[in-house]
Amino acid sequence: MNTWTTRAVTAATASAAALALAGCGGTGGTAAAGSGGDGLTVVAGFYPLEWAAQRVGGDRVDVSSLTPPGAEAHDLELAPQDVAAVSEADLLVYLEGFQPALDEAAQNEAADTAWDAGQAADLSLTAEEHGHEGETAEEHAEHAEEGEEGEALDPHFWLDPTRLASVGDALAERLAEADPDGAATYEENAAALRADLEALDAEMSAGLADCAVDTLVTGHDAFGYLADRYGLEVVGISGLSPSAEPSPAAQAEITELVRERGVTTVYTETLVDPAVAETVATEAGAQTAVLDPLEGLTDESAGSDYLEVMRANLATLQEGQSCT
Ligand SMILES: [Zn+2]
Repeated sequence: MNTWTTRAVTAATASAAALALAGCGGTGGTAAAGSGGDGLTVVAGFYPLEWAAQRVGGDRVDVSSLTPPGAEAHDLELAPQDVAAVSEADLLVYLEGFQPALDEAAQNEAADTAWDAGQAADLSLTAEEHGHEGETAEEHAEHAEEGEEGEALDPHFWLDPTRLASVGDALAERLAEADPDGAATYEENAAALRADLEALDAEMSAGLADCAVDTLVTGHDAFGYLADRYGLEVVGISGLSPSAEPSPAAQAEITELVRERGVTTVYTETLVDPAVAETVATEAGAQTAVLDPLEGLTDESAGSDYLEVMRANLATLQEGQSCT
């Protein structure tokens, strides 16, 4: 190990300790402005991007996330110290269209250092935006025909492990631009990340290949890419964002669909109030189970990192969808 690397590791460790201390009493985000060390300072929008940046950056980077553990990622609000962290970071890893507050900060505070993971993730899926409050099914259909609401890009790419692997590869290239001496390390780390994610993907493909129930009814519309990858059809109760509650008419339609398709399990989420999903399940005579969209990690998460939580999701799905 050369002296530069040794110094960088020491600085990163010291900075991580400072972050841990700051995290204890903090009310806003967990990002701290400027590490002052030799390593690259990377600020990530939310958990899967933070995890990928840590895996690819390794000891050469100091990664923090703007979404505090346990907070709902879509509705991220930035405190002044978060905005400062965004503007001072060597690299901002975010997802355009997922966290509106961060899109704005990326544009205004980090024009040269913001990196949108959506390009490498190939955001190809759309989902229907759910109806306006109180709207009937016919009104909803009319609006859709008129193009008033229609389709929105689905941002939840990380629930397909192969797309997250592509983001890791692209991130290695972007980190190497900022830190050319680390290029080989970033490439190796991204390859190791890809290997882990492809192993997970193989497990999921095998585990979900033969399921009695193909319709996946989830709290919000987060599992489109997972469903697309593994041959399931997803129905989100709350649309693309968990804060968009369904109208009574939409909720009744989903309940009917659960009955018709013989869905036995309706999934709730770790970070979202399960009330609506529980009502749908009760009315349709189904049970509930927790599926984690991995927008954040908490003490209640069914694992300590992305890979563990995804494997817990797989086990939950195999039972809930009656897979053999
Ligand atoms: Zn979401």
